[in-house]
Amino acid sequence: MDEYFHSVRLIKSRCKGCVSCTKRCPTEAIRIRGGKAHIIESRCIDCGECIRHCPRHAKTAVTDYLADLDQYKVNIALPAPTLYAQFSVDFSIETILHGLLELGFDEVFEVAQGAEIVSLMVKDCLNAKEVKRPAISPACPAVVRLIQVKFPELIDYLMQIDAPVELAAKLARAKYSQKYNIHADELGVWFITPCPAKMTACKQPLGREKSNITGAIAISQIYGSLLKVLPHVNEQANYNRASWVGIGWAVAGGETSAAQVENKLVVYGINHVSRLLEQVAMGNLDDIDYIETLACAGGCIGGPLTVENRFVAETRMKQRMQKLKDEYQVAGKSPLTDYHKDELGINERQAIEPRPLMLLDEDIFKAMDKVELIEKILESLPGLDCGSCGSPNCKALAEDIAQGRASETDCVFKLRERVRDLAQEMIDLTKKMPPPLEKELEELEKE
Ligand code: SF4
Ligand code: SF4
Repeated sequence: MDEYFHSVRLIKSRCKGCVSCTKRCPTEAIRIRGGKAHIIESRCIDCGECIRHCPRHAKTAVTDYLADLDQYKVNIALPAPTLYAQFSVDFSIETILHGLLELGFDEVFEVAQGAEIVSLMVKDCLNAKEVKRPAISPACPAVVRLIQVKFPELIDYLMQIDAPVELAAKLARAKYSQKYNIHADELGVWFITPCPAKMTACKQPLGREKSNITGAIAISQIYGSLLKVLPHVNEQANYNRASWVGIGWAVAGGETSAAQVENKLVVYGINHVSRLLEQVAMGNLDDIDYIETLACAGGCIGGPLTVENRFVAETRMKQRMQKLKDEYQVAGKSPLTDYHKDELGINERQAIEPRPLMLLDEDIFKAMDKVELIEKILESLPGLDCGSCGSPNCKALAEDIAQGRASETDCVFKLRERVRDLAQEMIDLTKKMPPPLEKELEELEKE
């Protein structure tokens, strides 16, 4: 695939070329050229790390708007459980779901319901002996893309299951196209998202041709409007709400608790995840059954498109989970304990194609020559990884030079060396005279 959709974009006028983002990007996708941060599209995984770390707020995420609902006959909101953590627990989940209806949606379908089914599927898959260990969670789209781009050899370790939001969208489409007696294409299915990677996942899905999700609207975008309507919401309808098991997916560790995995690792923060995947690729973690990997600190509650401080959000989420647990206990109910794959129409997702970062050349011999060239250039660079050349480190600059995207003098140290050599050459030249002039001088001296 040559054309990529990316939710993360640069607001050029705000960028000062300070290099902060180049240092944090897990796939070395950013170069400063002409004083501005340029994103290399084939490398970007839309993790949003650059949005978090830009001191000038020059990186942004493009998502859909509430106004886009006008294009569809019926609109369904798919709220990520993280949405509930943005508001005080004085507002019940029911109130928040009703609040979404007030904003213009016709129906709501909780992503947490999809998460509950996926938890059971993860459990079943892990019981199947043939699954490669350690199996890696498919839930975070930024991590799935990180594997696709930086660790293509680990693609087979990703569980062949859809993410909860994709499953929730599929179920919502089936349910409401029947209820309203309209074609599924006339439904707008909108994910209320905590992160840009999920926007990208619905516009350009991996492992399927088309997503069941129409678009994604950032939590931060609707937060203000929702906060205004919540105190006036009149709760009437009773929604088939997900249990604490499903909503717990918003917090790191929630997925593996829901799937009751004991021999597990929970890793969050995209750069931590990247370092851990290096270990998996080296075969150091084959004794682990399952790795829950999340790009954002603390899980989805730390997503760049959320509003609330992640520590506050985590506490609220846990309070909400406890409340639901208590309610279930009083009512003598249990969370979902079984699912019927065929009834739900669940298919395995298709294979994910690798998108290797370092394709130096289609021709293997030329690529090998370039590897040698990169090593040679790297030896001549100072190895300080200062980033003032606009590449994230010396190795990346060496690759850029070998690929013709940069020159040696982009390195300030090499530039200084070059200027010093030129200055020395100039000094040497000033001492030299053209031969006719030298003779004249000699003659003059004799006189
Ligand atoms: S962090 Fe990146 S996008 Fe932000 S001002 Fe610095 S170079 Fe520009
Ligand atoms: S979104 Fe992530 S991968 Fe893309 S440029 Fe920003 S930090 Fe790099």
